[in-house]
Amino acid sequence: MTKMIQGVRGMNDVLPDASPAWLHFEAVSREWLAAHGYKQVRTPIVEPTPLFVRGVGEHTDIVEKEMYTFEDSLNGEQLTLRPEGTAGCVRACIEHGLLYNQTQRLWYSGPMFRHERPQKGRYRQFHQLGVEAFGFFSPDIDAEMIVMLSDLWCRLGLTGMTLEINTLGDPAERAEHRAELIAYLEEHQDILDEDGKRRMYANPLRVLDTKNPAMQEMAEKAPKLTDFLGAESRAHFDAVCALLDDAGISYKLNPRLVRGLDYYNRTVFEWTTDQLGAQATVAAGGRYDGLVEQLGGKPCPGVGYAIGIERILLLMEAQGVTIPADVPDAYVVHQGEGAAHQAFKLACSLRTAGLKAVLHCGGGSFKTQFKKADASGARFAIIIGEEEAASGTAAVKRLTGEGAGQQSVLPLAEIAQYLRG
Ligand code: ATP
Ligand code: MG
Repeated sequence: MTKMIQGVRGMNDVLPDASPAWLHFEAVSREWLAAHGYKQVRTPIVEPTPLFVRGVGEHTDIVEKEMYTFEDSLNGEQLTLRPEGTAGCVRACIEHGLLYNQTQRLWYSGPMFRHERPQKGRYRQFHQLGVEAFGFFSPDIDAEMIVMLSDLWCRLGLTGMTLEINTLGDPAERAEHRAELIAYLEEHQDILDEDGKRRMYANPLRVLDTKNPAMQEMAEKAPKLTDFLGAESRAHFDAVCALLDDAGISYKLNPRLVRGLDYYNRTVFEWTTDQLGAQATVAAGGRYDGLVEQLGGKPCPGVGYAIGIERILLLMEAQGVTIPADVPDAYVVHQGEGAAHQAFKLACSLRTAGLKAVLHCGGGSFKTQFKKADASGARFAIIIGEEEAASGTAAVKRLTGEGAGQQSVLPLAEIAQYLRG
């Protein structure tokens, strides 16, 4: 036998038993996005590598070690499987003039690729749903982003989420803080790990974002950016907090929350859960007023976030959230040549009438066909034998719920109405 080829490590198949949860998430999230007035953008999975180097930042985990980058063998161009969605979304908006003198509320969803160590809640191909708003300077949109996520948790039936927020100020305030931070890190060089030493000058704020336990105390005591905020940044952040208070959303102020990506300024936030071990963050984002310009557009403020869909699904499972079953209305069983003909036509007409009908294919005894009907979860079995075929009728048997087992014979033309009733 030829050796079987396995899928790529860390890239998962979603099998039929698991897909109802995905479909449920997609259905709920689509309604929720429409309720907030967001429109979808679909961008390619492959982008030019420099888009992420510039857009995500050279000194980030993503660009330093997680990207799937390859050379286009035809023209030698460096290409990357997208590790996140914001850079591509911004590129598309600039390229198609969507940011000129207008605001945009957008969303995207799809697979992302990062070369990290696979474990529960962390994969090499994973899926994000991301939301971006462009052209808004005021703090109301920052708050909208955060509050709309709280609404999503509610719609999905998820509980126990924690919200952490912080402000990263503006570039000038960051520069002032940066100088003091570098001086502090220089004093504590002996505690820094490899990543820390490398990032100390390039991106010192990221050094504080470390997960290394040996560096926690040092990071805790480092100069805090919040102490360097000017009046405008402070007022913006206070306004965001006031809107969250108004909406009745509780949050933790976390001065060390800087986020893994370089492009954020002012508001940053993360929604976390304590039910997924180390992979605790289920959605994260913030404001990135400089990104559009950094990617070659006219200056335009942006705010956004991304939800890790696999982590949401794990959480739904952990919390026993009920996934609505998508069962057929009818499973049509039949025996005999005339009956097969009738059954085929009946299944088509039921679908035209808006019902979900599965036609038994491949023959077999009524007994095996009934087993399939039961396994399908269908509400009704429709039975057509020689006799029914001759008289233009079918037996309709209720398989689930109240009255299961009851059966009546009906003219074919009345079946759709009967199933609906
Ligand atoms: P982490 O600290 O967990 O690596 P991150 O800061 O790299 O997260 P973002 O780039 O902000 O994550 O992505 C937003 C969300 O996407 C995360 O909060 C998480 O829910 C999800 N996510 C990120 N990386 C992965 C992955 N490799 N597998 C599954 N989900 C992921
Ligand atoms: Mg990461």
